[in-house]
Amino acid sequence: MNRPVNLLDLDGAGLIAWCAEHGEKPFRARQLLRWLHRAYEGDFAAMTDLAKSLRAKLAEHAEVRAPAVLADHVSEDGTRKWLLDVGAGNAIESVFIPETQRGTLCISTQAGCAVNCRFCSTGKQGFSRNLGVAEIIGQLWWANRALGAVQSGEERGERIISNVVLMGMGEPLLNYENTLTALRLMLDDNAYGLSRRRVTLSTSGVVPMMDRLGEDCPVALAVSLHAPNDALRDELVPLNRKYPLNQLLAACTRYLVHAPRDFITFEYVMLDGINDSAAHAAELVALVRDVPCKFNLIPFNPFPDSHLACSPRERIRAFAEVLLAAGIVTTTRKTRGDDIDAACGQLAGEVQDRTRLAQRSQRIVPITEVAQ
Ligand code: SAH
Ligand code: SF4
Repeated sequence: MNRPVNLLDLDGAGLIAWCAEHGEKPFRARQLLRWLHRAYEGDFAAMTDLAKSLRAKLAEHAEVRAPAVLADHVSEDGTRKWLLDVGAGNAIESVFIPETQRGTLCISTQAGCAVNCRFCSTGKQGFSRNLGVAEIIGQLWWANRALGAVQSGEERGERIISNVVLMGMGEPLLNYENTLTALRLMLDDNAYGLSRRRVTLSTSGVVPMMDRLGEDCPVALAVSLHAPNDALRDELVPLNRKYPLNQLLAACTRYLVHAPRDFITFEYVMLDGINDSAAHAAELVALVRDVPCKFNLIPFNPFPDSHLACSPRERIRAFAEVLLAAGIVTTTRKTRGDDIDAACGQLAGEVQDRTRLAQRSQRIVPITEVAQ
């Protein structure tokens, strides 16, 4: 017997194709999309406006399978982190960051990461595998369920998760096809209905895939720059040896033709004594002279054995001043959720270490509370 198809692996076009294969009209696909990605329903029996015959086909040939939640932590500042099981000893993490005007979900696209940036704990784990569509979109699906999105106002048009950032574990552009399908679901009006401006993909600079994304699904783009010259970037972001800065910046300019915003966001992690001097800042200003951009300075979040430290606050301020003086909008990211290791670059999905993780946080929400 064929394995049931996991409906969370399919976008709108995929669901239409599945319906056609099973003798169903395209509008059924739209209904299914809404049940799956607006009501976050996983039980076919509850999909009451579908014909009984269709529900029977679904029960026989399909399933709705999101990754299982291993742990759910809530930080003192309201940040919430889920550890999700993606099989074979791999776990991934997603983080919800509530703010006054918006709620942002940070999601992962790979278990581990092959790019191996020097300052990133995901990179230090090495690469395990690409996530499937259901594992990527499943993070949004779970988070919406766990946050009670259906009961609490989604129907009134309020979104608890108003923004999604692909800034969790992994390099999204090295898992291109699955990421693209998941992005299409995020933007689909019958699914999550987010605008392209509210979905941000962060990349360490996979140049050819930036061009493809511009053609296929130009969401907002953040580029992890971290250094003002190739010699230093080669050390910090090894991918730079393949796609050096001149190629990366040219790709940024090309992307702007399609982008939903008229600037690229550059991320720059502040590493004490490594990339944070006033001279580095001046070099950076010259480097990005021709690219409309904003800068987001990220205080480095330490992790065991990184042998790196975050720049002192004063130096981050001085660095920002140089960029601001050159007319570049510059913000410094607030660190959120560091009491639960949910800050940038701390996502490690330490599945083998689950017991330690569980003991470490006193604020664990029992899994059963969210899994219903
Ligand atoms: N692979 C993609 C997206 C995931 S990383 C990328 O590199 O852009 C998301 C962001 O977190 C990147 O800007 C990355 O440089 C940053 N980051 C990684 N480790 C960090 C750490 N330890 N402290 C602060 N930011 C970190
Ligand atoms: Fe991978 Fe991004 Fe971490 Fe670099 S910073 S190792 S690209 S996840």
